[in-house]
Amino acid sequence: MSLAVISLPDVDEDIVVAYFTMEIGLTENMPTYAGGLGILAGDVVKTFADLKVPAVAVTMLNEKGYFRQVLDDEGNQTEENEIWDKNKFMKPLPNKVVVTLEGRSVVVRAWEHYVESPSGGSVPVYFLDTDVPENTEYDRTLTSHLYGGDSRYRIMQEAILGIGGLKLLVDIGYENIENYHMNEGHAAFLILELLNRTKNEEEKNYKKRYDFDKVKEKCVFTTHTPLPAGHDSFDTEMVKSILGADYFPFDNVDIPDNRKFSMTYLALNHSHYINGVAKRHKDITSRMFPGYRIHSITNGAHSATWVSEPFRDLYNKYIPNWSHDPFSLRYVFGIPKNEIWEAHIKAKENLFNLIKELTGETLDINALTMGFARRMTGYKRPTLIFRDIERLNKMAASGVKLQLIFAGKAHPKDIEGKEIIKELFRIKKRLGENIKFIFLENYGMKIAKQLISGVDIWLNTPQRPFEASGTSGMKASHNGVVNFSVLDGWWIEGYIEKVTGWSIGPKVASPDHLADDRKDAEDLYNKLEKEIMLMFYRDRERWIEIMKHSIAINASFFNTHRMVQQYVMNAYI
Ligand SMILES: *Cc1c(COP(=O)(O)O)cnc(C)c1O
Repeated sequence: MSLAVISLPDVDEDIVVAYFTMEIGLTENMPTYAGGLGILAGDVVKTFADLKVPAVAVTMLNEKGYFRQVLDDEGNQTEENEIWDKNKFMKPLPNKVVVTLEGRSVVVRAWEHYVESPSGGSVPVYFLDTDVPENTEYDRTLTSHLYGGDSRYRIMQEAILGIGGLKLLVDIGYENIENYHMNEGHAAFLILELLNRTKNEEEKNYKKRYDFDKVKEKCVFTTHTPLPAGHDSFDTEMVKSILGADYFPFDNVDIPDNRKFSMTYLALNHSHYINGVAKRHKDITSRMFPGYRIHSITNGAHSATWVSEPFRDLYNKYIPNWSHDPFSLRYVFGIPKNEIWEAHIKAKENLFNLIKELTGETLDINALTMGFARRMTGYKRPTLIFRDIERLNKMAASGVKLQLIFAGKAHPKDIEGKEIIKELFRIKKRLGENIKFIFLENYGMKIAKQLISGVDIWLNTPQRPFEASGTSGMKASHNGVVNFSVLDGWWIEGYIEKVTGWSIGPKVASPDHLADDRKDAEDLYNKLEKEIMLMFYRDRERWIEIMKHSIAINASFFNTHRMVQQYVMNAYI
């Protein structure tokens, strides 16, 4: 197989940050992401380009995507490969590097894709690929499935990302990289490779053999979830047998359970800046990992990506520079109310047209419509709003209908998550004639963009304190869609009751206070019935005020321009 020879990238300038991420969501046509983590990575890289931050990104090719969700009439989920054509988006580089796994040489190459901004900035993204003839059949699959396979496969994937990714950057010619940013612990093996590069063979004492300080100065780590399952840890012996004992430049002393090799501790111990993704998440993370100084730069959404066409046209008319300077969205107060409402109705029509196309169902443009879309899993509590179906049925009447649009994939191994989808399908049959429920198959960026802009209310009911940040509500607020959410993650920072939206459940000071399903549902119903439905149907003027506040107070802050500027100022320089 011959590779097209293409020119090497311009690597003369110093790189402020090399951003390592297992998944990235740049466009709906490149399904190299599973969910929020990947979408955030895509939004961050787009913002690096917008702001001309000298950056590169390293990720996996994920040639067969995460998976395509197929649902039958009962809501049983099956998974299919999501094959996409990489040639349409990227070019192969001639560079090849070798990562030694289980003593075998595994060849890694990269495909180069440029993220280009209207500002003129651009950022290369390197998609790592092991599907080359030199490799064994098994090794050729290491970059095909995102979050697939067993622990051995995962360790090897993470070695490709961290070690292979770093070797490739060096091979391409990047010499002066000031920071290595690990978006989650998946990429933390890059620390081992960085340490190896500082090795003094003569030195017998391991503590002096490597330049730990120098490596730490360059590493930045963002942790994304309080859930244990989100923190990769592997059997230490297995990691050693895959990477080779020589790849262990330090005793695993700082890790509480020595038999487990924790990617999180590896990153925590060797990063000069550790970040949680919201204020509350910083508190939770500090309790989970005492002794580490955790910062918090709250996540954001890339404004230009997540503003729907009708709102884009409206902002262009009244706030000309908004996409380059989303802080200026606070000037939305100057836009006439009727134009806000017209833009919203257009976005709602666009969503309803998509739903018609996908499901054949017709929705009522005048009916209060709520959206809920996220990974289908226990702690997200997708069924909370259906806890008392009788009550819900009573709330809705002919003039005050409710429409609920849900979407989301369950991880193939998440049995509980799959059961939740089936439960939702059963619930649908018990809903009265004035409630319409639709579950959209195969949630991804395309559906997300229509959904977060086309509903009236964006619902989020996670079990506290597990929602580290959440970003879909930020996307919704960019479109004047009103958030109705549990006080967890970013919403603790974004909500002002009845000004920017509504909260669900108590405001609790203690981060380890678990939510009570019954009380949360009760609060949800009370507010929905007595405040939200009432205001939506009877006081449109006030409703539009809330839409405006949602944009002015939240979209102007919870965007990746603010987030990246904070990373540059606080973590990178
Ligand atoms: C924004 C987004 C997410 C993350 O949403 P959360 O609110 O963090 O759950 C997941 N999937 C897609 C497709 C998204 O666009």
